[in-house]
Amino acid sequence: MYRTNFVQVHPCEVPRAEYTNLDNESKRLILVPYLQALKIRDLQGKPFFSGLDEHLNDDDGNGGGGFIGNNQLQLNSPARSSPHSNGSETTERFSRKVFVGGLPPDIDEEEITTSFNQYGELIVDWPHKAESKSYFPPKGYAFLLFQEERGVQKLIETCVPDDDKLYITVSSPTIKNKAVQIRPWRLADADYVLDASMPLDPRKTVFVGGVPRPLKAFELAMIMDRLYGGVCYAGIDTDPELKYPKGAGRVAFSNQQSYIAAISARFVQLQHGDIDKRVEVKPYVLDDQMCDECHGQRCGGKFAPFFCANVTCLQYYCEQCWSLIHAREGREYHKPLVKEGADRPRAVPFRWC
Ligand SMILES: [Zn+2]
Ligand SMILES: [Zn+2]
Repeated sequence: MYRTNFVQVHPCEVPRAEYTNLDNESKRLILVPYLQALKIRDLQGKPFFSGLDEHLNDDDGNGGGGFIGNNQLQLNSPARSSPHSNGSETTERFSRKVFVGGLPPDIDEEEITTSFNQYGELIVDWPHKAESKSYFPPKGYAFLLFQEERGVQKLIETCVPDDDKLYITVSSPTIKNKAVQIRPWRLADADYVLDASMPLDPRKTVFVGGVPRPLKAFELAMIMDRLYGGVCYAGIDTDPELKYPKGAGRVAFSNQQSYIAAISARFVQLQHGDIDKRVEVKPYVLDDQMCDECHGQRCGGKFAPFFCANVTCLQYYCEQCWSLIHAREGREYHKPLVKEGADRPRAVPFRWC
């Protein structure tokens, strides 16, 4: 039986011993080959990955596109352009994108900018800002996109902490010194190794879609571990430019049963603090696997374009083997999965899911 009950996890309950005990070198050894296999490229700037960027596969196109709306904003990236980014110690600890919530309703973009540019050069953004042509963030929150990560650190140093949250005051024409919440994203919260004793297996990894932005990797790991057991690792996808969560994640399991339980559930209710959201879980599809049936014999050694997520299959297939296997009774309704955002092969004789 799968455990499908909802789980509430509070940060204070989460054992962090393994996380803090794992030094950067161990983390690097565990994570780099695994993330390379998954073709996850946004590792720049994480302290334990400094200097490794150039070894990572960087050919999967436009990762992170559209994360700040359609305004085509391009900030300079110190992590990429600085000569210090290769090999030397980096002090980057936060995403350059910071959430600010609870803004006065009549504060406009210019006033927000003025409130925060004492910490560093920044641009103010909010969802659909370019299309709406509004001068005010319509929902009382906005994102501060700092040009330099130092600006984020300076802002945080000025904030007043209260019950795990950070506050600072801003003023609008009618409201003076309103406390607003600042929510930075710590780069270290994008990866969490729960069980360092198990090798991370890309083929026992699930993709989690629709992850709420504030959810940290260790929280995702704990929730999934309580639901399905056997979690070794959880990661939050971040965009390569600002390193801010993109709203998706991945979880690696140590065993096939837990992996199958997670993908069979398809949806998981993530509950954590103020968060209560149903998210989608599916197998993480790799794009460089050989066909598990013919091992390349029938397809000229090309990588398999299809993955069947049905638990009776759970295999990669070339086109011929897909057709052969799925001509069998009971399998004709299986649908192929392809990698998120991958180029879909043409001329295939079935519908895509
Ligand atoms: Zn095959
Ligand atoms: Zn199948």
